Amino acid sequence: MRVIRPVMSYSNETVSKELLLKASQCPETRQLAEWVLANHRLTPEEGLWLFENGELGWLGMLAEVIRQRHNGNRVFFIRNFHIEPTNICVNKCRFCSFSHHFSKEQWELSLEEILGQVANQPPEVRELHITGAVHPGRDLYYYGEILKAIRKLRPALHLKAYSAVELDYMITRAGLTVTEGLTYLKECGLDSIPGGGAEIFDEVIRRDIAGMKSSSETWLGIHETAHQLGISSNATMLYGHLESYAHRIDHMERLRMLQDRTGGFNAFIPLKFRNWNNEMEQLPEVAITEDMRNYAVARVYLDNIPHLKAYWPAIGKPHAQLSLSFGVDDMDGTINDSTRIYSLAGAEEQRPAFTVSEMQEFIRRANREPVERNSLYHPLLSSPSPSGEGAGG
Ligand code: SF4
Repeated sequence: MRVIRPVMSYSNETVSKELLLKASQCPETRQLAEWVLANHRLTPEEGLWLFENGELGWLGMLAEVIRQRHNGNRVFFIRNFHIEPTNICVNKCRFCSFSHHFSKEQWELSLEEILGQVANQPPEVRELHITGAVHPGRDLYYYGEILKAIRKLRPALHLKAYSAVELDYMITRAGLTVTEGLTYLKECGLDSIPGGGAEIFDEVIRRDIAGMKSSSETWLGIHETAHQLGISSNATMLYGHLESYAHRIDHMERLRMLQDRTGGFNAFIPLKFRNWNNEMEQLPEVAITEDMRNYAVARVYLDNIPHLKAYWPAIGKPHAQLSLSFGVDDMDGTINDSTRIYSLAGAEEQRPAFTVSEMQEFIRRANREPVERNSLYHPLLSSPSPSGEGAGG
């Protein structure tokens, strides 16, 4: 049965519905556009049809109409930074360029070093994203102490920490249930959890590219429990490797069903496979047209996840700017040259950073309205101080 969902409307649509309907002479395409415009949810078969048959320019127009419905002309960003406590990992995912298995260097930050990185950030930074590898020698209580110490040092900082894969390892090792482990971390200061580790949910492909990693069911279960505890999260999808379009739709379908139950995902973040310095480097990377197709179909298919994020350290700033015409409404944040996960995989942004004014100008040049947000996507009505320039490096 088709689900009809109420949506917010904005008057400043830049792609009109009439133009969209005129743009294709193909009866199937027009029928699908009419369904989507009438707020009908796409079936998995229709989503697959869009991937396989949707002409790219038309897909972009369709995604733009949906983006405008969700978010008007606004494109969000946040002043944020990352800490990657270690790259020493018990797992050995074949696509990974970050862990000590492939990186030429390895590190494990002490609590003092982590606090030093926090203290170095300007006061205007609002969010800290903590993810790293699955270190065999560190446990739940160590990670809890990190949160407590940061909370004490910077009480207002939003702590988005530990992917479901890291959480699975530390909570299982502590002999706790997911509810008990997440409750403990929440008491330590955890505010939300990032979307990493989802990769691709199809069990056969997942076993091939990340056989030692937590299962899809575990990833989804941890996010569901987090949402039930009032901890919101994001969701990612690693694409452009061995998966097919059907696997991508299956991945999005599992997220859409979970979101129907909990409403706890803030954003969906497609992550492109980059082929430098990992066990899958023989695979060519997909073209930019494929990146845009993926954003557009995701925006149309995931009708219940409010935001679609272009994680620009993974795809580079020019591609991220183009994605703003294919359904994307979130540019993540200023980052402040604090993440190495994608620079180690050969991404264009080897020192990823934006100043606030650069970010605003970058969004305006794509004919969108830049809106600074907090971690829960509430717009900030006034920016703190010009010294916040430093938040973006
Ligand atoms: S992707 Fe994550 S879990 Fe997998 S090897 Fe790399 S750091 Fe470890």
